[in-house]
Amino acid sequence: MREAKHYRGTAGFFDTHAHLYDHRFEEEGRTPDDVLLAASEAGVTRILIPADNIATSRQAVDYRNTNDGKHGVSLFASVGIHPHEASTYSPEAEEELVRFLDKETRQNNGIMALGEIGLDYYYDLSPRDVQREVFRKQLVLAKEMDIPIILHERDATGDCLDILRDFYKRGALRANPGVCHCCSMSPEAAEEMVRMGFYIGVDGPLTFKNNKKTPEVVKRVPIDRIVIETDSPYLTPEPNRGMRNEPEFVPYVALKLAEILKSDISDICRITTQNGIALYGLMG
Ligand SMILES: [Zn+2]
Repeated sequence: MREAKHYRGTAGFFDTHAHLYDHRFEEEGRTPDDVLLAASEAGVTRILIPADNIATSRQAVDYRNTNDGKHGVSLFASVGIHPHEASTYSPEAEEELVRFLDKETRQNNGIMALGEIGLDYYYDLSPRDVQREVFRKQLVLAKEMDIPIILHERDATGDCLDILRDFYKRGALRANPGVCHCCSMSPEAAEEMVRMGFYIGVDGPLTFKNNKKTPEVVKRVPIDRIVIETDSPYLTPEPNRGMRNEPEFVPYVALKLAEILKSDISDICRITTQNGIALYGLMG
């Protein structure tokens, strides 16, 4: 999306969620160099690469360390166990997360969050009781290690809010607890997340014609709480829906946000990037 370059202002776009190590890139002959060049040409200056298990935590960190700064794009990573993978959570896995989250290791490897963690009752790839237990364990870890979380929640808003409310009331959530990534909650639930301090992440589904809920969410949530993302290689925004998603498409999410909020894309770019910087505690 080269025309977006003209909109980006000085901050550039921040794709706060892109699985750049995914095998689809390599299988389709798309190198990190290709991806970051295209992103840079679209005005993207920052990308966070999230993980979903121990193997992808290592891959996210390796990708970040190998490619950080290429074509002027700053890269960051997260580590964590996704609800799909909750059954793989073990004392050894937790020890490895703790090693990654050590202050010095974090700084040296650009690790800015614990995630994706949460609940997914749509796919139910791990038993629900195990998902809840592993979510709670990682919330404890996030508070102990003083790091924001990346929340993945699908068809589990009730249980997810119950757990987060419980932590919040006990003062066991961080002041800046993290982001509800690819938020598919109701406007009321999203507002409650914001009251607990969370940011709301929006991506391709915001641009889908049949999605009535997310536009309502972004109208109700304060603009200084919204971050944009692609969830590459999934959830490609219109007009490229169906293609492999890449960070270069994140401006389409910003454009849609500008349209819904009757705002200017350069303002949306500036504000969502500032929000991403605040969320992950980066240097502006
Ligand atoms: Zn993801």
